[in-house]
Amino acid sequence: MSKGLLIVVSGPSGAGKGTICKKLLKKNKDIQLSISATTRSPRTGEVDGVNYYFEDKEKFKAMIGNNEFLEYAEVYGNYYGTPRKNIEEKLEKGIDVLLEIDIQGALNVKNIYSDGVFIFVLPPSMEELKKRIIGRGTETQEAIKKRFNSAYKELDYAFKYDYGVINDEVDEAVKKVEAIIIAEKCKVSRKVDIIKQL
Ligand code: 5GP
Repeated sequence: MSKGLLIVVSGPSGAGKGTICKKLLKKNKDIQLSISATTRSPRTGEVDGVNYYFEDKEKFKAMIGNNEFLEYAEVYGNYYGTPRKNIEEKLEKGIDVLLEIDIQGALNVKNIYSDGVFIFVLPPSMEELKKRIIGRGTETQEAIKKRFNSAYKELDYAFKYDYGVINDEVDEAVKKVEAIIIAEKCKVSRKVDIIKQL
């Protein structure tokens, strides 16, 4: 049996990686999302244990101390971390795992799982990105400015990823991610054992 595929999706805020990941998971029930822990407060409609594990700083620090995170990072003043537990087990069992994390986190994961597939979601234009960040309506003016400025700088990191998916139309972008996953699974390097057994 082949190991599961670790799929890491990141990109600047407003590029639409959250929407793409949600649709991808809805269409592909065999892919499992890794739920991160965060110290940020839940937004309206967010549920603990579904969107994130919402923890206070004390608990988060204790989790860092117990080596519970595969990676963690400070993003816009809050901590976010990928719980290590389950991911290794799932991959070993052949289950595909999706991480929707920021760029620092993704690059740290790349050092550990170089055989993961790293996908960068890009906006069609910076104008469109600004509209999307404002349109979200969950942030203060100051937070919007901060997110837009860091989004602009973050684009340079796209070159460290394996794939760049422009999110012009969500369904098309999801199809592209699905195509990437299929192609990755067909790589000979992932099929050595299977080929040798034939
Ligand atoms: P938001 O607060 O909008 O949910 O997320 C802010 C940023 O944190 C997003 O770029 C999101 O992908 C990222 N993020 C979410 N979970 C993790 C995680 O476990 N690790 C890292 N490094 N970033 C994360």
